[in-house]
Amino acid sequence: MLQVAGLGKRFALGHGATLHALADVGFNVQPGEALGIVGESGCGKTTLSRIIARLADASDGSVQFDGTNIAAIPAARFARDPRRSAIQLVFQDATDSLNPRFTAAQAIAEPLRRLRGLRGAALAARVAECAALTGLPGELLSRYPHQLSGGQKARVGIARAIAPEPRLLVLDEPTSALDVSVQAVVLQLLAELRTRLGLTYLFVSHDLNVVRLLCDRVMVMYLGRIAEIGRANAVFDHPAHPYTRALAAAIPTGEAQRNRALPEGEPMSPVNPDPHTCRFASRCAQAMPRCREAYPPLLPGSAAPGHLAACHLLAPTG
Ligand code: SF4
Repeated sequence: MLQVAGLGKRFALGHGATLHALADVGFNVQPGEALGIVGESGCGKTTLSRIIARLADASDGSVQFDGTNIAAIPAARFARDPRRSAIQLVFQDATDSLNPRFTAAQAIAEPLRRLRGLRGAALAARVAECAALTGLPGELLSRYPHQLSGGQKARVGIARAIAPEPRLLVLDEPTSALDVSVQAVVLQLLAELRTRLGLTYLFVSHDLNVVRLLCDRVMVMYLGRIAEIGRANAVFDHPAHPYTRALAAAIPTGEAQRNRALPEGEPMSPVNPDPHTCRFASRCAQAMPRCREAYPPLLPGSAAPGHLAACHLLAPTG
């Protein structure tokens, strides 16, 4: 469904300085799959999701969606493109993303008017249908965001995203603003909707436990590049990249709260980074001279098919 290749995003900062937010990002997503995108803040996961959702333009590379390079359509024009319906975004914090002057019903109706041209009874019926799909009681539809709880607002945000019948949902930390108990309920709802509606998910999160629960595959990003990608169990149980190993070791695990600190050391600056140096080298305990001479390619991380990591430790020596 989605083929991302050579995607890059740079921001000119002036005086010859360029921030490299994304570099050479490439991956595929199959229909019905859920791909988790994880990494610390500043790793480029939100920039990537905004480019794929066509809210921002890439500097280079392509995003093939159903065989069309949608990255070549400027974000401003894509807003009016019929394919806009097929890709929808669920935002991090429903409180910020919902218009305070719109009732829940108006918020869900807005993309249906704009993208599907629905009016009158057909519009009302689809709003009611989406509310029911997301477990939002009908009596809440006339309420404004400030009259709804966090969980109810999250349901409005999801109902609004599924309303125009998308096939791909880009979810940007959709539960991070919620209490833990509400988070579990909303994640359950997202899992159910994916099966019921045959949706494909790109799920951006800093919470590895959440990604493990919901996603088939996971992509770990570090300073704008892919560090590791593969099936969630392969990546979490047999992490091949030193950064993923540190992330996996830092996952809080309930009874045995390992929660070890992430690696120390200053992260490399994303401004004018040396293209020949592994971006994790400044924090990696296993860094060797080679890591500062050539950027590591993606190499098989284990015997599991499709499990790849960008680390020289995986290259055959000799
Ligand atoms: Fe560490 Fe080198 Fe692997 Fe980068 S390539 S993660 S610096 S060992």
